[in-house]
Order: sequence, then C-alpha cells, then structure tokens
Amino acid sequence: MAFNRQRRGKRSFHRRKICRFCADSSLVIDYKDAKSLRYFTTERGKIIPRRISGNCAKHQRQLTVAIKRARNIALLPYTTSIVR
Ligand SMILES: [Zn+2]
Repeated sequence: MAFNRQRRGKRSFHRRKICRFCADSSLVIDYKDAKSLRYFTTERGKIIPRRISGNCAKHQRQLTVAIKRARNIALLPYTTSIVR
C-alpha cells in the first residue's frame, strides 16, 4: 500500500527573522535597561520565545539572563496581574 504522503500545511513561512542584536551591534543587552528588555517580554512579563522574537540562541540566552536579573532587582515584573 503506497501511502500518498501529502505535504500538510503551508509551512513555508519564509519570514526571515534576524536577530536584532546581531544586526545592530550597537544594541547591547543590559539588565538595567528595563525599557528595551520589556520589548522582549509579553505584557504579562513573560519572556518572548526565540522563534517569535527572532533572536539567535546566543542573544536570546543573554536576554534571558538579563531579564531574570532585571526581575531580581525588581526592574521587571515576574508576572503582572492584569487589572481591568
Ligand atoms: Zn544574535
């Protein structure tokens, strides 16, 4: 029995995402810079995953450390309770 392998789904999302830290070397990941770190967190304070942010592994790791450090000194929230 020949299985007709259908290519399911259009996975050809060729959205070239570049790591903005690699692209712009003037950007530095600084845990004290809560404003730019917040860009990489959701509004609930979660870190945006690499596949969405487009960061490379190296910078994502640095970013994660920076965000955690920033949380530690209360620059960023661990979670934000959304008050409506
Ligand atoms: Zn990078």
